[in-house]
Amino acid sequence: MKTGTLYIVPTPIGNLNDITLRALEVLRSVDVIAAEDTRHSSVLLNHFGIESKLWAVHEHNERQKAEAIVQRIQEGQSIALISDAGTPLISDPGYPLVNACRGAGVPVVALPGACAAITALSASGLPTDRFLFCGFLSPKQQARLSALQRLQDETATMVFYEAPRRILDTLAAVQEAFGPERQVVIGREITKQFETYLSGSVAEVLAMVTADSNQQRGEMVLMIAGAPAHDHSIPAEALQLLTLLNNELPPKKAAKIVASHYNLRANDLYKHTL
Ligand code: SAM
Repeated sequence: MKTGTLYIVPTPIGNLNDITLRALEVLRSVDVIAAEDTRHSSVLLNHFGIESKLWAVHEHNERQKAEAIVQRIQEGQSIALISDAGTPLISDPGYPLVNACRGAGVPVVALPGACAAITALSASGLPTDRFLFCGFLSPKQQARLSALQRLQDETATMVFYEAPRRILDTLAAVQEAFGPERQVVIGREITKQFETYLSGSVAEVLAMVTADSNQQRGEMVLMIAGAPAHDHSIPAEALQLLTLLNNELPPKKAAKIVASHYNLRANDLYKHTL
């Protein structure tokens, strides 16, 4: 018997036009749509005239449901997993199900689509070459501060989801953990009518959000710039010598002398003379 497929289908995070043609095609064709909240998702599905059968698969029952879904797929049915908004599994249910499917050798196909973290990051103006998605911080004050303090030396851009009622407390904790100068960006109500991006030092953004209660409403993604990278590959004495020689010699020559003395790459040292 031919097995079916589990499809992971992202849905819009605000603007209904962000559903993809392929998402609609898959949602129309599957035997069952497993949804985090069937009432919430039926509004979206009705909007697109999709009448597939809905199953509730949320964080409280997903472990039990996983087995039944794997069995159905093995029997040849195809199932689409959706969450209330955005990409399933990204701070949303689905991990036990996908893990069970992979374990059972059942095909899993993920469709690309809306995700608040990626959308916010791409518009943030912060470095995107390396980033760390951290999901939601703890609602408990001390646990939240400790989690942030553990990230003090992280050099990648950090991306968090945050609830509006906690944003002021969280910004205060970010200020305590990273200092008032660290750059942050808040992407709010992305793809919706009141979409805004606030950016600046933590102290500046905290002042802006405090002064404008509208900025304490809606859905938000908080991004924190990474710490500046320290180049541990060049010994401190080599850098000192480089600085001294660089005052007397052309930069290329200074870099070459220090490189041969410490057995380092002249190019790496040359970058430090610029
Ligand atoms: N799976 C979703 C995704 O792919 O983005 C995220 C689900 S998580 C339960 C919900 C959180 O995502 C919100 O609390 C907020 O932090 C963020 N979020 C979702 N939609 C957003 C939007 N339109 N603008 C800003 N943040 C959003």
